[in-house]
Amino acid sequence: MTDSDRKVFIQAFGCQMSVRDSDSLRSLAEDYGYVETKEPSEADLILITTCCVRESAERKILGRIGELKALKDRNPDLLIGVCGCMVQQPDAVRSYSKRAPHVDLWTGTFDYDQFSHLLKRAMEGEKVIRVSPDTSGRTELAPEAQKGSLKASVSIMYGCDNYCAYCIVPYVRGRERSRDPEDILGQVRMLAANGCRDLTLLGQNVNSYGIKDGFKTDFADLLKEIDAVTGLERIWFVTSHPKDLSDKLIRVMAESHHVCEHIHLPFQAGSDQVLAAMNRGYTARDYRERVAAIRREAPQVTLSTDIIVGFPGETEEDFQGTLDLVEQVGFTQAFTFMFSKRSGTRAAELPDQIPLEVKRERLSRLMEVQNRKSLEWRQGLVGKDVEVLVEGPSKKDARRLMGRTRGNDIVVFEDPGTGQDLAGQLVHVHVEKAKSWTVSGRLNTLS
Ligand code: SAH
Ligand code: SF4
Repeated sequence: MTDSDRKVFIQAFGCQMSVRDSDSLRSLAEDYGYVETKEPSEADLILITTCCVRESAERKILGRIGELKALKDRNPDLLIGVCGCMVQQPDAVRSYSKRAPHVDLWTGTFDYDQFSHLLKRAMEGEKVIRVSPDTSGRTELAPEAQKGSLKASVSIMYGCDNYCAYCIVPYVRGRERSRDPEDILGQVRMLAANGCRDLTLLGQNVNSYGIKDGFKTDFADLLKEIDAVTGLERIWFVTSHPKDLSDKLIRVMAESHHVCEHIHLPFQAGSDQVLAAMNRGYTARDYRERVAAIRREAPQVTLSTDIIVGFPGETEEDFQGTLDLVEQVGFTQAFTFMFSKRSGTRAAELPDQIPLEVKRERLSRLMEVQNRKSLEWRQGLVGKDVEVLVEGPSKKDARRLMGRTRGNDIVVFEDPGTGQDLAGQLVHVHVEKAKSWTVSGRLNTLS
């Protein structure tokens, strides 16, 4: 077999950082001659980047790893690597590797900078398990990995120091550290010069960018500089922590040309008692005040959020506070979760854990309210012309195209059938129908 016959299949679970990591790992595997395949059964190397934020994610990934055994039985030369957050959890890899002896390479997030070397050892037939304690690495792995892509994401910082009581992230991603602004700008310019039009800046709490490291450039300054990079059409950023969302940032959003009119601002819970127990660093009133500042200074900006139900000790009255906030703010989208016990976090040890059936019932009531609010928002788009950056064929129906508005609404529309590839183009779509999560319409004009 020649190098170019080797194929790599890569699957990412979890957040956008995990997806970004999977791009880097793919690119590093390509350095050894692997070519990407979308078909796991024809792969010589399968890599999985994992997530352990909730137990449900972990269970799903363990199931997926189990399924890969059949492929390994059929092709004993197949290499399987499991990487990332789940592997990084203290003591986890020992039990995982016992459960899944068909996996050849295990590596946690803190060893990604060693990935090429570890992969080479696995390719030479060694069983590799590598999980190191926290490192202070702050270099983007394979910064060129997304060169040529229409959509790209760039990590501006790593780790998190917030220690929300429920969250495993600080333990598996390490202490907060920001990348040098010039490095970030260099990477962004390179991506933009190579076709990137839609850029997402990544960090667990982008609003605290540079503060701990004493940079003169804060997040608002960085965003302003990135806004001026030629070629970029749309700029997004995740995630914003409400406690660090500055007026300066809101002003930059209002005044910028390419920063999209959307902010993901997780509130997690609408009760002050629960927010304090979560160690979030703000009250429900503080959150409302930040939303009011956004609406005042940048009224076009829409909001999405993350919410947890059933945090230990959450009463029906506390939960009502969450429903009230959802009713009042009017998020265009919400990611809603049942509290999941993560061992090693403070919340896992708290008394008054909420029974599963109560969590389920609260989640379904919350989703009912949010679905109604999302539908109301999207119904408000019916009859309007919206600017859409086309991404490609719709997943559900390849004869239709999909793209997003600057408010992160998914728009589906008929392919005009001109034979022209519209991916990467800005078009205007006249919205005709709305569902809770998408709108559909007809192509109006090409921009
Ligand atoms: N840094 C981001 C989010 C990281 S995790 C932030 O602070 O907003 C993504 C989301 O997963 C969180 O916003 C939270 O809503 C959810 N989450 C994290 N840990 C969880 C847990 N133990 N149980 C349920 N949901 C959790
Ligand atoms: Fe987790 Fe909180 Fe850090 Fe977000 S801010 S990653 S929820 S500890």
